[in-house]
Amino acid sequence: MAGGTDILLKIKQRLISPIKIISLRGVPELTKIEQQGRFISIGAFATLRQVKESALVQQFFPALVQATGRVGSPQLRNMGTIGGNVCLDTRCVYYNQQAWEGAFEPCFKRGGKRCHVVKKGTRCYALFCADTPPVLLALGARLHIAGPVREREVPIAEFYQDDSLCCHRLQADELLMNITIPIEQNRVSVYSRFSMRGAIDFPMVGVAVTLQRPDNGHLINPKIAATGLQSKPLRLHTLEQLLAGKDMNIGEMEKLIEEGIKDIIIARSKGMSSNYRRSLLKFLIERALGECILKAEKMK
Ligand SMILES: Cc1cc2nc3c(=O)[nH]c(=O)nc-3n(C[C@H](O)[C@H](O)[C@H](O)COP(=O)(O)OP(=O)(O)OC[C@H]3O[C@@H](n4cnc5c(N)ncnc54)[C@H](O)[C@@H]3O)c2cc1C
Ligand code: SF4
Repeated sequence: MAGGTDILLKIKQRLISPIKIISLRGVPELTKIEQQGRFISIGAFATLRQVKESALVQQFFPALVQATGRVGSPQLRNMGTIGGNVCLDTRCVYYNQQAWEGAFEPCFKRGGKRCHVVKKGTRCYALFCADTPPVLLALGARLHIAGPVREREVPIAEFYQDDSLCCHRLQADELLMNITIPIEQNRVSVYSRFSMRGAIDFPMVGVAVTLQRPDNGHLINPKIAATGLQSKPLRLHTLEQLLAGKDMNIGEMEKLIEEGIKDIIIARSKGMSSNYRRSLLKFLIERALGECILKAEKMK
């Protein structure tokens, strides 16, 4: 357990019953945020507030400041950690609402044999909704993981898997130790999200965009990632390729954005249709890209 803001709730809701819980909050080495050459290293147990208020993060990764600042509430950001956010479980109203316990036949995620969201579904479609992973994906972060016999380093893109029952590839005896993000002097970044409520709510969709300083008014190296669409955060590679090298004119990009996201599979979810979330995705990309372009133009 790190901050316990998610796992303790699941224990209280009787969704999981661990035999033992070990808190690692008392290890100060795992909360450090420091520059290591051309990288910033963020300890997995740094709280979201520490990350948001870090001068290094503010200087190099403004989108991470925006994403950590949007998680839950000040109390949750004081307790919740960035490692817990990266390792966050997928969510679904049929799983995370205690009030519905016993009202429905158990679904796949509760050990049953059916899904209430996709009636004929043969798997769980719960959504990954954490705020910081799309930003870390767009920034090219790497995760440093330790187990009893070895340590390993993986690009965050390889950490996740398309499985709503277990969305990451961390072994049961492994711990995420720290996250390193490369520093790129001419990069701008923005995180933009939409949630049903203004405060204390998970994002329905969240989008991170990064860009390099423009070259003759063209988009250089756009990186775009999103949360809330599937069982894992997604890099939008097709859209990135369509936008790379194009004129920095948000009006002309509208069609390209529509084209670039039309084939993305958006998992069904109770109370928010896939079509609606596709429109939200388009809107958030336009907004984040527009803000990035304004920032990038100021760098000329
Ligand atoms: C009301 C409410 C609103 C919320 N709103 C948001 C929101 O808007 N956006 C959002 O992203 N999240 C939200 N959250 C979820 C949560 O608060 C955050 O995601 C937080 O960052 C989780 O961090 P934690 O340290 O508390 O994780 P914990 O609850 O301690 O752990 C979460 C999971 O990650 C594992 N874990 C934690 N750290 C490590 C590690 N270093 N190595 C390996 N495994 C690890 C734990 O074993 C557990 O399975 C909300 C939660 C609540 C209760
Ligand atoms: S998506 Fe289906 S299987 Fe998964 S938690 Fe929701 S109802 Fe259960």
